[in-house]
Amino acid sequence: MTSLSPVLKQATPVVVDHGLGSWIYGTDGREYLDFTTGIGVTSTGHCHPKVVEAAREQVGKVIHAQYTTVMHKPLIEFTEKLGEVLPAGLDSLFFANSGSEAVEAAVRLARMATDRPNIVVFQGGFHGRTVAAASLTTAGTKFSAGFSPLMGGVHMSAFPYAYRYGWDEETAVDFALQELDYLLSTRTAPNDTAAVLIEPALGDGGYIPTPARFLEALRERADRHGILLIIDEVQAGVGRTGKYWGHQHSAALPDIQVMAKGIASGFPISAIAASTELMSQAWPGSQGGTYGGNAVSAAAGVATLQVVAEEGLVENSRVRGQQLRAGLLDLQSRYPVIGNVRGLGLMQGIEFTAPDGSPDAATAAAVQGATTDQDLLTLTCGPVGNVVRLIPALVVTEREIGQGLERFDAALAAATASAGSDARGRGRP
Ligand code: PMP
Repeated sequence: MTSLSPVLKQATPVVVDHGLGSWIYGTDGREYLDFTTGIGVTSTGHCHPKVVEAAREQVGKVIHAQYTTVMHKPLIEFTEKLGEVLPAGLDSLFFANSGSEAVEAAVRLARMATDRPNIVVFQGGFHGRTVAAASLTTAGTKFSAGFSPLMGGVHMSAFPYAYRYGWDEETAVDFALQELDYLLSTRTAPNDTAAVLIEPALGDGGYIPTPARFLEALRERADRHGILLIIDEVQAGVGRTGKYWGHQHSAALPDIQVMAKGIASGFPISAIAASTELMSQAWPGSQGGTYGGNAVSAAAGVATLQVVAEEGLVENSRVRGQQLRAGLLDLQSRYPVIGNVRGLGLMQGIEFTAPDGSPDAATAAAVQGATTDQDLLTLTCGPVGNVVRLIPALVVTEREIGQGLERFDAALAAATASAGSDARGRGRP
């Protein structure tokens, strides 16, 4: 009998029959509250009627109108719609299928436009799994070990992960900036550096918001040295953090913005945005692909952006995110294994810490497993997997957040009781 390859790991044993809004209905007859959204993808919830209708209609018109051969209406419309919400000046778009592909497109553009080879990334960043994207990923060695050689020209600098260092945020930002300046004077000269690449909040690397002052200082250094700032909004974009784009928690603007996941509610499509002037510095035909900018995905993308606007989902993310965060802080006061609660909007991470201050991956895994038993779907993240992340749909209601918190509480109780760890002290101040 044929089976799926064991290279694919699955976080839960659930087999989905169908999904609607914040809910996944299993073939086991159970109703799961989905706080994973397919890793931050189903932004408008599962099968939003308007997204379903737009895709259905497009399937009957044309499915694959290959974009280096012919152009199609959904992609033209999606380009215009994204233009309405993109930062000013980012008026030129290129489309691909996945986040990794879009990250690679951004790097290709940056290298061509600057004629410089190197890219600086930040420790804990996640930018994808294709070989070049994996070369840019430092969210855990599991993403890049065992298939070297990786792409060259990538240099890693420190990320201001205040909790890990045991510092306040200002100290962590000062340290990370010093390290970046040191890197630029010891390893990758500004004249050799095409771009710095960063997420508005570390995603798979542990759900750590990038401090505004750090992003702004990257912008300043980019301007000073003629380096491009690439912001990877693949996970943080489209309302996820309570602003339309994650970087809008700061005053920094990207030269190149990378998008995927939430822009089309689950249909595979990704994009990079830059100024026409910047895009024009790469030669025509330097980017492309067979499936990029698929017509059905683009139609779903147009409907997604409409729903986000009509239903006020960015604001809902902010408000429901506050509710979720308040509930998690309350749980932290009752469960000493929770070392840190952090996040923006509906992108919240709970870091588990052992009494000696070390990361507690075993408890995080036990809690994540226990949430499934409570009919709540969650994921872990972080380099050693000691963070549980909650990523509800942007349509999540007050009642659903309440239900999610109750189930998370029950999962914490079950997991800490079985591990006998509920009496532990919190390790880190
Ligand atoms: N960048 C970020 C910030 C991501 O979160 C991800 C996916 N988790 C990617 C890039 C890669 O996207 P994909 O899996 O679609 O290739």
